[in-house]
Amino acid sequence: MNSIRSSLDQFMQNTDWRRRYENLREEVLSYPKVKAFQQEHPEVSEKEMENNMMKLFEYKRERQNCDTCPGLENCPNMMQGYQPELYAEAGQLTVRYHPCRLKQQADERKRQQSLIQSMHIPKEILEATFDDIEQDHASRLSASNACLKFAFEANPGEDATGLYLHGKFGVGKTYMIGAIANELVTRDISSMIVYAPDFFREMKQALSDGTVQEKMDEVKNAEVLMLDDIGAETTSAWIRDDVLGVILQYRLMQKLPTVYTSNYDYDELENHLAYSQKGGIEELKAKRIMERVKHLTVPVFVDGKNRREM
Ligand code: ADP
Ligand code: MG
Repeated sequence: MNSIRSSLDQFMQNTDWRRRYENLREEVLSYPKVKAFQQEHPEVSEKEMENNMMKLFEYKRERQNCDTCPGLENCPNMMQGYQPELYAEAGQLTVRYHPCRLKQQADERKRQQSLIQSMHIPKEILEATFDDIEQDHASRLSASNACLKFAFEANPGEDATGLYLHGKFGVGKTYMIGAIANELVTRDISSMIVYAPDFFREMKQALSDGTVQEKMDEVKNAEVLMLDDIGAETTSAWIRDDVLGVILQYRLMQKLPTVYTSNYDYDELENHLAYSQKGGIEELKAKRIMERVKHLTVPVFVDGKNRREM
């Protein structure tokens, strides 16, 4: 009696297991990315797929997490920030894990940050999106449209055209470049936001520790460089001509776009750059830099209320 009973149990478990396996198999094979893989690789046999069903199941589970990505910090994958990819090699199926786009960007940011301290940007800015920009003002609407257009069309290496966001303190200029940076990530374009006053200060210090060149190289080569709050620093001829001027010249040659934010418009910034700390007036040099800036940016006036007083 007992042995019949246990055989029956076993049989029940077996069919239950079978049914579960069939469901799982069905789910896996109907997952669009698995279907696409099968279409692209007819050389991978049904049997090979069948033999790797558990691997494929794991692939689907992890990859679905990416489809509804909750951000790098909340990544539910086994290895945070790693995305599975299917490969076919001589008819054999393999799954490999690669750092996802967000992880790559975060790693790149960390690497840059270890070199350029002034790259530190508040978290709220790093999380800014165009959806959060209030369209409460006609000029804000056209400003955010101009930023969005840039984020969609920027083409580092081919076109050096950037933006010049100007307007009063607290209207949300820095926030907008944060939104641009995040939109660029989705196009796999990296950007570097540098707070200009800190950056220029850091460069002066770099003179004494011999790191000017490596810091310059990093900033010069950013796919999209964002110089935040230019004009808020005290200028010196060295910063203007040998730091800013050299960076801009290089970026012009390499066709790399630069985005600026400033409380000053073009003319006011030119004026600011003409006065060196030592009291001399160097209008010509300031004009030369500003011509480059003007030539390579679309001016965008940002209006609105001062959000820092709210
Ligand atoms: P600016 O760079 O023009 O001086 P900020 O971008 O620093 O101004 O914005 C001022 C404050 O308002 C910041 O605390 C910023 O996070 C907040 N802010 C700006 N734009 C928005 C927005 N669209 N939604 C929410 N907060 C915003
Ligand atoms: Mg700002």
